[in-house]
Amino acid sequence: MKKVLLLGASGSIGTQSLDIIEAHPDRFTLTGFSLGKRVGMIPDFLKRFPSVQYLCVSNAIDAENLRKTYPDLKVFHGDEGLVSIIEECPSDMVINALVGFAGLVPSVASLEENKILCLANKESLVVGGSIINGLLTEGKGKLWPIDSEHVAIAKLLSCIDRHDLKRVLITASGGSFRKRSRAELVGVTKEDALAHPTWSMGAKITIDSATMMNKGFEIIEADVLFGIGVDHVTPLMHDESYVHSLIELQDGTLLADVSKPDMHGPIEYALMEGDVPFTPVKGKCLADYQPYHFHDFDPQRYPAVPLALASHRRGGNSNAILNAANEIAVYAFLEGKLPFLSIEEEVRYALDTVPFTEKPTLEDLLLTDKLTREAVSNHIGG
Ligand code: NDP
Ligand code: MG
Repeated sequence: MKKVLLLGASGSIGTQSLDIIEAHPDRFTLTGFSLGKRVGMIPDFLKRFPSVQYLCVSNAIDAENLRKTYPDLKVFHGDEGLVSIIEECPSDMVINALVGFAGLVPSVASLEENKILCLANKESLVVGGSIINGLLTEGKGKLWPIDSEHVAIAKLLSCIDRHDLKRVLITASGGSFRKRSRAELVGVTKEDALAHPTWSMGAKITIDSATMMNKGFEIIEADVLFGIGVDHVTPLMHDESYVHSLIELQDGTLLADVSKPDMHGPIEYALMEGDVPFTPVKGKCLADYQPYHFHDFDPQRYPAVPLALASHRRGGNSNAILNAANEIAVYAFLEGKLPFLSIEEEVRYALDTVPFTEKPTLEDLLLTDKLTREAVSNHIGG
């Protein structure tokens, strides 16, 4: 029986993680969870999971009210509260389903506490990949990805001898504007951008899918998780989101992970620590995967991808700049303060102006994040 602490319980990945925990009462007990501002969801979660003893929410006032309503629960709040709940709540496994940079310190704290980290928060890996890998190399904790492409890649790599790997084909839906040219993106609205064609996800990752910054992040994530250099990961446009990724072997054989687009599968894979049945679908070429459709990726249509890869190649604190600038710009777009096409411009501006640090510590990354947020917020104005 694994004791589980879930960070980000109110979100898209968080609520689906609760479904998986609930479906396996013989394997998992939920001992604590965090959410941000959607405190109205707490009574239902506590009813479903009476084993919960620890909570964390964003605001101090919400935490105070919860302590009065639930005197038997230990309630934390804020960024420090997320670290405290990881340290104090009895758990073997932490699911990090937070969105954005806020997930980095909790990822690091979970590994430092020797937890099994089931990680949806890809921003942790993009910004702090070397710190996270450093902890894993020291033998601190374990990491299982939740991102669907990376679960697919992990499953496919487990079927081969690594020497046989030629490259990874990471699939991409192209997001909500995939049928439009760049010229047709002028003046697009938040509502248009949030209408993802194949996945139902949180707002931030849905916008990242529309710019395809998400795919840039995921190529970086593949490098951090599996040591596959970014030059050996090729983005491949795929309409239906059924083929979660493919690997190509030295002899040209393709292996794919194919299933309907539903994050319950990847979450279950991570929580079961890879112990799920899997059979790769073999092909000689992409046409063997009919009825599914694939297209070449066009970097000029989606400049966020080459921008992300250039940042990763530069190294140091670049990905912290990349991520912070992207977060500020995405939320400014969602608030109607920035046109969609300016998201990439703000990221480029930040990479050109925020000071570079070659070997950043966690504190350096926190400082870079703060400086970048200030620089981009000032640049956007309003
Ligand atoms: P959501 O926005 O749906 O959920 C985010 C969760 O984090 C919510 O519980 C939210 O609380 C909480 N949260 C947000 N900001 C803070 C903060 N500053 N402090 C504390 N808690 C906070 O996001 P998703 O579930 O879509 O995504 C989560 C992560 O998983 C992201 O990194 C995303 O890229 C990744 N991912 C998501 C996929 C998906 O299908 N959704 C697929 C693959 C990866 P509240 O809302 O209560 O304020
Ligand atoms: Mg993904």
